Formats: sequence, structure tokens, C-alpha cells
Amino acid sequence: MNIPFVDLNRQYLRIKEEIDEAIAGVIRDSAYVGGDRVMQFEHDFAEWLGAQHVVACANGTDSIEMLLDAFGVGPGDEVIVPALSWISTAEAVGTRGATPVFVDIDDTYCIDVTKIEAKITPRTKGIIPVHLYGCPADMPPIMAIAKQHSLFVLEDCAQAHGAMINGQKVGTIGHAASFSFYPGKNLGAYGDAGCIATKDGDIAMKVRMIANHGQPQKHKHLIEGRNSRMDGIHAAVLSVKLRHLDKWTEERISLANLYCIALKEADMILPKTPADKKHVFHLFVVRSQRRDEIRKNLSKVGISTAIHYPTPLPLMDCYHHLEPRREEFQNAIDYTSQILSIPIFAELRPSELDIISQQLI
Ligand SMILES: *Cc1c(COP(=O)(O)O)cnc(C)c1O
Repeated sequence: MNIPFVDLNRQYLRIKEEIDEAIAGVIRDSAYVGGDRVMQFEHDFAEWLGAQHVVACANGTDSIEMLLDAFGVGPGDEVIVPALSWISTAEAVGTRGATPVFVDIDDTYCIDVTKIEAKITPRTKGIIPVHLYGCPADMPPIMAIAKQHSLFVLEDCAQAHGAMINGQKVGTIGHAASFSFYPGKNLGAYGDAGCIATKDGDIAMKVRMIANHGQPQKHKHLIEGRNSRMDGIHAAVLSVKLRHLDKWTEERISLANLYCIALKEADMILPKTPADKKHVFHLFVVRSQRRDEIRKNLSKVGISTAIHYPTPLPLMDCYHHLEPRREEFQNAIDYTSQILSIPIFAELRPSELDIISQQLI
């Protein structure tokens, strides 16, 4: 038996005709970088999200970096980030020459909003909440804190396409949002891709300029930017997949509900979804003191699992110079030794979910 952690081929087979036709069209028109498909996808995604402006780019990390540049973050500045995320969230701050300031997580695995204010200094410019695993961070109090201290809020939505708070999609609540379309994300391209979304026309214009070598028009370079354009093939694939995303999200949620029923008696902590929030289950993460043993047993019977993530960000080697105080990140430290991501993707078969659950109880 072999149950994969994620199987992108099953997804492709569901929509093969649409995808093949879309890709063939890009090749026929030689629309490889930028162009019609990218403009169309920006339009489609903005409409789906309910955002005024969407700017496509090369990957999710670039989208965070370019937004930070657009917000004017640079050396001497501090930006608040959660202690648990993919490295990009903190890395984008550090590579701007600014300092990531880490805040512990709570039992939803997102930033603990009660610990943010203690970390604000005169150098703080903004906050990057991450909707980790597909669970929305608690945005209303974050927006209130940001308003009080005149900070920007950049939502890292890389794992949370379609997640909501009180019926409002994440990515439309903060001042701007970054999205990744890495193949394994809930909405994934056939390679690296990403975008920003914002209601701020000035921020959108700056990012668009930065992403295309600082050119508001051809051969006029107002600033030094970079190359972070989206490829036509990715845009074409993303527009096709976007039409199916809501259905796939509901399928993920159904599978998560099945797991919660099947694992009710299991000796492990299941994901929590606060009542006002819609979790889109990019990952299904359980917690157990016996994590390593459980993982080994699943692996023996052919079930693939993963750990997101094994090390809290402040304890990574690259942040050694910030002299992190371990006691400030106690939840992140405790949880990273206990968390286990078990397979969840729209095409996971209920029969496979049963087998996985039986191994866990
Ligand atoms: C995937 C991811 C990113 C980065 O996206 P890439 O497209 O891989 O550059 C940023 N933040 C989080 C939380 C992610 O999961």
C-alpha cells in the first residue's frame, strides 16, 4: 500500500482536457511571459477574492518582498512575524535589511495576538500574520493594534486561498496580501508563481513596477526593480484551476470533518477552527507527544506524512545573531516537537482516509 502525502497527478487527471487546451493555447500564441493570460488571471483572481488590485508575480516569496519594498521597509526597521511559518515570511524581512521580530503562536498555530503589543517598538513598521495551514489568524484584533500604532498589515495567504473570517476572505482584510501558487498549495501553478492583492492603488502600482524592472512603460526605468513576472503557462493553468477551487476547498473541508469524526477517540490533539473562521485545510495537522513513533508506524505501512515545521523560525541558524530567548516562544518550541501533517488533498479517497485513521486509533 502507498498513500501519498499529496498527489498532483490525480488533480490533473480530473481537469486534463481543460488544462491541456489552456497550455496548448499558450504555446500556439507564444505567450510565454506576461501577456493576455496573466492579465486575465489577475482579473479572475481579483474577482474571486474580492480585491481591487491583483498583481501577478514569479512566486510567493517575491510577493512578500515586493510588498515590503512598496511599504518602504528597509534597514533599521522591524516587522512582526509569527514564530512558526515557512521561512519566507521572516526571510523577506531580513533580506530587505530589516529585522524580523518573532511572536509566539497560540493553539490555532497562528500568531498569538495577545503577545504582539509587547513587541512593538518605535522601529516597528508592520505585522505579517500568516494564515498557517489554512486557518485564518485572528485579524480583527491585529487590525486594531495596527491602527493604534500606525503599522501596515501584510497577510501571508500562501496556505489559505479561500479561508474566511466572518464570511470575508483572508487577503482582503489587511492593507495588502501575498499569495503563493507553488504547485502543492491549495491553488497551484505548474511551477513557481505568486501574486499580491490590495485595495491600495499606490501599493499595487509600486509592486507592478518593481516586478518589471521598475518600468511603468517600456524602456522607462523609474527605479531599479527586478524580474518577478508570471509565466503565461502558469497564468493559463491558474485560471482553469480557479474555476474549480471552491469545490476543491469544500472537498478538503469534508475530508477534515471525516478525520475529526474518525479520530475523536484517538490520543491526539486535532486542529481547532474558531467559530467565526473558515479553515481551508491546506494541511491537516495533529499533535501528539508520541509524534515520532506515530510517524514511523505510518511510514512502515506506506502512509506518507510531513512536519510543518520542525523548527520555530527564531531558532533557525540564520537568526542566531538575533539572540532569541527560548522562553518567549514556548508554544512554538513545544508544538514543533509534537505536530504531524497527515495526508489531505481534494482527491484523497475516503477509503484511504479510513486506512490512515485506523492506523492512528
Ligand atoms: C509557500 C509559502 C510561502 C512562499 O511561497 P513560494 O511561492 O514558495 O515562494 C510564503 N509563506 C508561506 C506561509 C508559505 O507556505
